Order: sequence, then structure tokens, then C-alpha cells
Amino acid sequence: IIGSTGIINLIVGFYLINVGKKSNSITLEADGKHLLTDSITSGGLVIGIILIQLTQLYWLDSLISILLGFYIIYNGYKLTRRSVGGLMDESNIELVKKVITILQENRADSWIDVHNLRAQQYGADLHIDCHVTLPYYFDLTTVHQEISNIDKMINTVGDHKTELFIHADPCLPACCNYCKMPNCPVRQEEFRGEIVWNMDNVTKNQKHFDQ
Ligand SMILES: [Zn+2]
Ligand SMILES: [Zn+2]
Ligand SMILES: [Zn+2]
Repeated sequence: IIGSTGIINLIVGFYLINVGKKSNSITLEADGKHLLTDSITSGGLVIGIILIQLTQLYWLDSLISILLGFYIIYNGYKLTRRSVGGLMDESNIELVKKVITILQENRADSWIDVHNLRAQQYGADLHIDCHVTLPYYFDLTTVHQEISNIDKMINTVGDHKTELFIHADPCLPACCNYCKMPNCPVRQEEFRGEIVWNMDNVTKNQKHFDQ
């Protein structure tokens, strides 16, 4: 009986991990891994019992219990690390890369830089926090418009439902050399070149002139 539930758990477990990966759902994946751990544990138990019956070595019993215990603890640890790690999660990194590519390919001249970007996964939804540097003389209505544009753009160009929380930073004179704002009335320096947004400069908590 332990053997057959083990096999069913194994199949269901693999299935859940697959579906979880496809829909980027860490909870489904976690359920699948849990079942997989269970089936490996019961499989180990069955093999252990057979081994003890065959060899008559009863100390194997405690050895197997200890090994299985470690296995269960190790797996639990891996799962918590994955959900707490946030950005460190592999599937998350792929999604964040996609968001950064969308931002870079559709960036407006007024979005001087994007930094301190962090991502978290809630079920199948992606949540992103980031700072966007905007011209300091923009009024609140304009800032609000720009931020809503970024949100709308990411959710229409990208195929993954993303909730954004954007913090607006005022630009500084040090931004001018990479700021593409046309006819800026307060420009202190000529535009020298665009800084391409990537995983590295967008995730740091620094405006791009500081990096
Ligand atoms: Zn900032
Ligand atoms: Zn609003
Ligand atoms: Zn400027």
C-alpha cells in the first residue's frame, strides 16, 4: 500500500511541478515538490523494510530513519528559500528580464532611468517595485500620467499580468548627460548617450550616473 500511494504521489507530484512551472505558480510547484518528497520518502521506507528483512541488520532501521529525516528537512529548506528569495528565483529572473526588455524597447524620453527594481511572485501574478527618474519640474498630474503609462505599457506589451508599484525620483543635474528629454529647459550638460537598461543597472538602488 505504501508502494502504490508512493507511485501515485510521484506522478501527481511531477504533474503539479510541470503545471506550476508553466503558469509560474510557486504554490503549485511547492505542492508538487511536497508530493514528490512524500513519494521518495515512502519509497525509501519500503526499500528499507525489504533491506532489513533480507539482511536482518536491525540497526539499518535507525540509519534509514535519520537519512529520510535529513532528506525531508533539506527539501523544506529549499522550498522556503525559493519563495522568500524573491528575485533569486529562476523563473522570476526570466520574467524580470522580459519586463526590463519591454521597458527598454518602449522607453519614453522622459523616463530618465529605472532603478531599484525588485520582483515578487504571488501565485501566478508578478509584482514589481521600482524607481523611475523623471524631470524634477514635472507636476503631479504629469508624473501620475507617466507612471500610469509605464504600468499600461508593461501590461499590454507583455503577456504576463504584472502589478507595478512605481516610486518617482526627481532628476539631478548629473542625469543630464544620459537624459534624452528634448528641449529640456534646465539642461546643464549635453546628451552624451543612452544607458541601455539591463538586469544589472535596473536592479541596483542607484540612479544610473552613480553606477
Ligand atoms: Zn531612487
Ligand atoms: Zn492614480
Ligand atoms: Zn533634463
